Amino acid sequence: LLYNQVQDLKGTIRVYCRVRPFLSGPPDMQSTVDYIGENGDIMIVNPRKQGKDARKIFTFNKVFGTKVTQQQIYVDTQPLVRTVLDGFNVCIFAYGQTGSGKTYTMSGPDLTTEETWGVNYRALRDLFSTTKARQDMIEYEVGVQMIEIYNEQKNRAVGATALNERSSRSHSILTVHVRGRELVSGSILKGCLHLVDLAGSERVDKSEAVGERLKEAQHINKSLSALGDVISALAQKSSHIPYRNSKLTQVLQDSLGGQAKTLMFVHINPEADAFGETVSTLKFAERVA
Ligand code: ADP
Ligand code: MG
Repeated sequence: LLYNQVQDLKGTIRVYCRVRPFLSGPPDMQSTVDYIGENGDIMIVNPRKQGKDARKIFTFNKVFGTKVTQQQIYVDTQPLVRTVLDGFNVCIFAYGQTGSGKTYTMSGPDLTTEETWGVNYRALRDLFSTTKARQDMIEYEVGVQMIEIYNEQKNRAVGATALNERSSRSHSILTVHVRGRELVSGSILKGCLHLVDLAGSERVDKSEAVGERLKEAQHINKSLSALGDVISALAQKSSHIPYRNSKLTQVLQDSLGGQAKTLMFVHINPEADAFGETVSTLKFAERVA
């Protein structure tokens, strides 16, 4: 390895939880997040229950509260992103129900203000500037590709409007391929970064969803649970990793497992109405952690 910055990244799967702020309503609105501890603990409270049973603690690698900035999020993401330039494969996922902040974390709300840039733009900027800083030692080629998986099909170069309209029902994957040639030895390294804004994880009421909507919901369920199965099999170092159960896990197969590194951001909407989805999001996250 040319630049080994990975000692601090023990294990291959990390889970970060991010709680988005309330978007509107009175400032004293009751949050389902009771407290966030320093060591990756988050306690949630069921707004419809009283006493000890109403509370539950989950533990992740880190938990980011509502005041955490995009810059602070990236500080804890950067070491992983940089390993791509040393020849590692990295997958970064944004998971959560629609409206919980996945796109905010990955893309950001507004491209025109750098302060609000999400992980995607910061990672690209970082990779380009680091390749430049190393140009006397390594010659890098960087390629970027965007794909969308909608109803288990792989679509390249989707129009911006189409992507926006169905963004909550499709997975969008920004992939950065890196190839480096060490100038002195001539040795080649290859790395790859997948930045994945997943489809909304909310369960669709089967009695209400019909036709296209039902089909979409079934495809999303299938692919998110297949992703959960793959990541938890990897975490348990299982001998069989079930990559073939969905298009999403097939596309990412080479970058999940082996020497690859995975970071999952799970997103929480703190509103009382979202409590049920918050619990299932945290349970999903606990399963893959
Ligand atoms: P998702 O992609 O999960 O459907 P979005 O990223 O579109 O959710 O977020 C929903 C809304 O909440 C958007 O208006 C977004 O700007 C806002 N939002 C999400 N996360 C944050 C945050 N950490 N700080 C401020 N606003 C946020
Ligand atoms: Mg989104």
